[in-house]
Amino acid sequence: MLCDLHNHTYFSYDGMESPEKIVENAIANGVGVVGICDHQFTDGFDFNAYVSKMRAVRDSYNNRCSVKTGLEIGTRPKPDDFLAKSASKLLDYCLFESLDSEKGMDLYEFLEWRRLFSCPVGLAHTDIFALSERYGVDMLKIMREHELFWEINTSGNYTYYYDFLTNRTKQRAVKESGITLSVGSDTHQLYNFSLAKLTSANQLCAELGNPMLFGKEW
Ligand SMILES: [Zn+2]
Repeated sequence: MLCDLHNHTYFSYDGMESPEKIVENAIANGVGVVGICDHQFTDGFDFNAYVSKMRAVRDSYNNRCSVKTGLEIGTRPKPDDFLAKSASKLLDYCLFESLDSEKGMDLYEFLEWRRLFSCPVGLAHTDIFALSERYGVDMLKIMREHELFWEINTSGNYTYYYDFLTNRTKQRAVKESGITLSVGSDTHQLYNFSLAKLTSANQLCAELGNPMLFGKEW
């Protein structure tokens, strides 16, 4: 059973597919849990329209696939508190990006802000080992304490992914930390979707034995 919790649709400035296309592609590839997490910072992004469309899609594929509504939140600059205080109540999960970038939100400011979110919160395509070095902290410990899950992003755009696939030391540290994991293809167009990469990342999570976000349902 495969999970893919990172997909974009035409609600994102850089997404091309409809939510239905993303879900049908997931079903055709044996993905049991598919999450869509469009970019909140897209010009003209209509949060209510997005959520109601996603509810309709979830209901229409109810028996064939578990569809989750997420949001990918940019952290440069820090977004409006509406996302934390109101939007997060209507979402299944949020992913934060760019915390490992020099221009991203300060880690400690983020950890404070994170408390306002009522849905599961995770870090998208983030090199948490680089963050540990930058701040001189143990990010795995911080993530466990602050209930942050970690995404293994299989798009191929982020080098931490290739390192983690083969780095036994890092794999052992993640396993021992017990943090929750997720896997995301970061699909923006269907022709970028790679079933092979998605499968190997899901297999690695299963081998490590860490909990997977929404993995229990299957
Ligand atoms: Zn994304």
